[in-house]
Amino acid sequence: MEMIRVNLSSNSYNIYIDTGLLERIGDTLVKEKAPCKTLLITDTNIEKVYGSIVTESLKRNKFDVRLVSLQPGEEQKTLGTACILYDACFDHKLDRNALIVALGGGVVGDISGFVASTFMRGIPFIQIPTSLLAQVDSSIGGKVAVNHPKGKNMIGSFYQPKAVFIDTDTLSTLPAVEFVVGLVEVIKYGVIRNAELFEYIEKHLYDILQLDHTALLKIIADSCQIKTSVVEEDEKEVYLRAILNYGHTIGHAIETLTNYNKYRHGEAIAIGMLYATKIAIEIGLTNNKVYERQLSLIKRLGLPLTIDLKPGDIVKTLYTDKKVISGKLRFILPKKIGEVIISDEVTEEILYKILNAPL
Ligand code: ADP
Ligand code: ZN
Repeated sequence: MEMIRVNLSSNSYNIYIDTGLLERIGDTLVKEKAPCKTLLITDTNIEKVYGSIVTESLKRNKFDVRLVSLQPGEEQKTLGTACILYDACFDHKLDRNALIVALGGGVVGDISGFVASTFMRGIPFIQIPTSLLAQVDSSIGGKVAVNHPKGKNMIGSFYQPKAVFIDTDTLSTLPAVEFVVGLVEVIKYGVIRNAELFEYIEKHLYDILQLDHTALLKIIADSCQIKTSVVEEDEKEVYLRAILNYGHTIGHAIETLTNYNKYRHGEAIAIGMLYATKIAIEIGLTNNKVYERQLSLIKRLGLPLTIDLKPGDIVKTLYTDKKVISGKLRFILPKKIGEVIISDEVTEEILYKILNAPL
């Protein structure tokens, strides 16, 4: 078992990574929190495979559990669904000492955290992320939210879980395409902070895709470690945390312009990383090799490399991102594999030049 401590003064917590963790979840959790009223939130896909394993383990350890299952999918991440979950909190008589358990991918984690952060002004919650994306990204860092018709994740807050339990076995039932898009965020961590991780993925991609335990433990633990260290330094995204948005500036514009239904998040981010690297080459910050290495990995994952969008529309959309501060576009640009800079100096001229050429 790997354990990573997230040091955020009074909001500190542990991330546990292991196989077979779900069966032991109650036994492990009881060391962190006394048995209590517990609302286990999941979606119907995940309930089918893991609902009873988790419920039984919690019950064996005297947690008074009720399970609520959402329909799968991003469309569920609304205030309306949050209200249904508040009703479940009342029905099950949760109090300030109760617990919300999020068992699932990013959708379940985000909305469960949001409900936990607002019910009675905040009750304890833990995350059991079951998708690779949630394990390496959304379950760590305390961003919780629901969507609004005007924008994704627009209604939310920063609210840290009491613990995160990552069972690598859950990846065996995750659809392969979901695994691959999660891997893009792992590659991102390599580029922004850890050249050795990037190299490891290049060398061991086959093992990773075969879900080899050692390989999974390595890439997930490294990713969690990188995200943790960035979040520890800048919990509320004042500055440094922005490096986690490498690939996301153009990536988000692609997602927005295609109404979030043509590209999966990881697919859009992969394209965004390549464009960001092209910008870095254009301004003389990095060299072609840095581009080629990322391109090669992304190709090996079989991810799309074309976008049928007008550069003008992309540039216009960049300004609508909620991360735009005082009208300035912010780009995260690689200097080399393992190191990025935050730049507010990318001109529209450069953007047009880059976006007009194929990847
Ligand atoms: P993400 O985690 O990518 O942000 P979701 O929460 O929508 O997004 O999860 C992606 C999809 O994968 C959903 O349909 C969800 O039900 C499914 N899923 C998540 N984890 C697992 C798993 N371990 N086994 C099977 N299906 C899963
Ligand atoms: Zn992302």
